[in-house]
Amino acid sequence: MQTTIETLPAFELLGLAPELIDAIRDAGYREPTPIQAQAIPLALKGRDLIGLAQTGTGKTAAFTLPIVQRLLGGPRRLRALILTPTRELAAQVRESFEKYGRHSGLRVAEIFGGVALGPQETALRRGVDVVVATPGRLIDHLERQNLVFDDLEVLVLDEADRMLDMGFAPQINQIVREVPPYRQTLLFSATMPPEVEALARKYLRKPLVVQVGLRTQAVDTVAHAVYPVPRERKSALLAELLKRPEMDSVLVFTRTKHGADRLVRHLERAGIEASAMHADKTQSQRMQALEGFREGKIRVLVATDIAQRGLDIAGISHVINYDVPQRPEDYVHRIGRTGRAAATGDAFTFMSPDEIGMVRTIERVLGTPIPRISVPGYDFGTVAAD
Ligand code: ADP
Ligand code: MG
Repeated sequence: MQTTIETLPAFELLGLAPELIDAIRDAGYREPTPIQAQAIPLALKGRDLIGLAQTGTGKTAAFTLPIVQRLLGGPRRLRALILTPTRELAAQVRESFEKYGRHSGLRVAEIFGGVALGPQETALRRGVDVVVATPGRLIDHLERQNLVFDDLEVLVLDEADRMLDMGFAPQINQIVREVPPYRQTLLFSATMPPEVEALARKYLRKPLVVQVGLRTQAVDTVAHAVYPVPRERKSALLAELLKRPEMDSVLVFTRTKHGADRLVRHLERAGIEASAMHADKTQSQRMQALEGFREGKIRVLVATDIAQRGLDIAGISHVINYDVPQRPEDYVHRIGRTGRAAATGDAFTFMSPDEIGMVRTIERVLGTPIPRISVPGYDFGTVAAD
């Protein structure tokens, strides 16, 4: 259902138990969707995740499968809570748990408004392993003490953008206050507006961002992001990102002059107009490049660290750190270059495995983690990057 990937790992390679593989086969799924391929191994490791992918990309199974696996054979208690915006979605998620948890005897309760409280109350009091709920009705049950979250291990905020659109923020806050702080939290959404970002910042711990679809809107609202990518795949990833129409004025930083020249050649071979700016260029060449960039004739300007000072260009849509800046100050400096644009997004840093330490240093200086965006087919296994 996505075309950004050449090869998808089979379900067998995601770390799922044989019972689950059987259930997946019975459901008729032949291969994981991209969001499933990315999210399942990380969720199985217990990581907090932000999963971004359009509607219809299989996000439900991306969290249901790892949760069923976690709950297999463990104590029979309420250990997983899934919040969804609507009754229909709650029903779908419940069905998904039933499908994959078939052999495990998991007890799943579906809680939503518009129907009598009584039967839901009875189900909850009998004991359940998983609750799938819309926020409003769940609070009714909490207030009646029909359930407690003392043993809750996993919280899912499904279709987070829709829940917030529907005004569920206060209810979500009230519910999360009742949930143990040591838990795994998974957030799935089709888009990532600032409200969803704020929700993620509040409730997720060191989340990894799993994003599918290079051209979704979602990424545009991520103010900064780190792309884990092997060094040798960086130029291909850049060419891919530059296909996005909104990338109309992109300043790319490389560490060396050679790196800048090489990258410009690579981009030009890929049919992308680009110019280099560094200390080896004459003053007039530099002026020319800058002028072209300012006037929008050159879409991509590749500059070295040195060229960064004195570069003051209004209206840059994106800054891309092709190499991780050596000094954290440089990072802050560059991100500042997008000015207002930074508020709507768009400072990306490519991080190869040998640059993980430098990104960590930057994050320490910033005092906050930078979200990771893992692009299927280009990343190097996101777990190593946290
Ligand atoms: P989302 O939550 O991303 O909108 P859903 O989880 O509701 O998407 O899935 C959309 C549809 O895709 C469902 O009908 C589901 O059964 C189907 N689906 C999910 N995973 C796969 C897969 N790996 N292969 C084929 N179909 C799948
Ligand atoms: Mg969904």
